[in-house]
Amino acid sequence: MQREEFFESLKRKGYRLTGRRKEIVDFLLSQTDRYITAKELIEHLQKRHPTLSFETVYRNLHTLRDEGFIEESRFAGETRFRIPCCPTHHHHFVCISCGRTYVMDHCPMPAVEDIPEGFTVLQHRFEIFGICAGCRQGREIPDWAESRTPTEVTSSTCPKH
Ligand SMILES: [Zn+2]
Ligand SMILES: [Zn+2]
Ligand SMILES: [Zn+2]
Repeated sequence: MQREEFFESLKRKGYRLTGRRKEIVDFLLSQTDRYITAKELIEHLQKRHPTLSFETVYRNLHTLRDEGFIEESRFAGETRFRIPCCPTHHHHFVCISCGRTYVMDHCPMPAVEDIPEGFTVLQHRFEIFGICAGCRQGREIPDWAESRTPTEVTSSTCPKH
């Protein structure tokens, strides 16, 4: 999403864009193909604002999340945030090391067959966690990981609809 377009959508929702909030959003916009941790964001902002508190950053991230402007996921022990890479329904392969995401070509939901009788599906979440090719070099696969050779995924861009 373009910077100005994103700022406009924030303003329309009544989200006041102070200088600091712009910096938060700018950092998120500079990392659109991956999840970032609050810590990464804070370290980035503290270069210019050494006294910036964790509370301020968390509060802003949570507001952005509650308003649906950013997505949240939790893996490798930390909560992560990102700006959605495209507005249409899709899922990701996620690298737990660098947070990079790769869009899945298909939604796996139609393949789910054992939905309990009488159960109405309203929404679903589906993410596959692993280690990307770049991070794999020199990194041990954690003990808890299932060892399955991933199929070739080369694109991190949105599928055409
Ligand atoms: Zn996405
Ligand atoms: Zn990675
Ligand atoms: Zn889906």
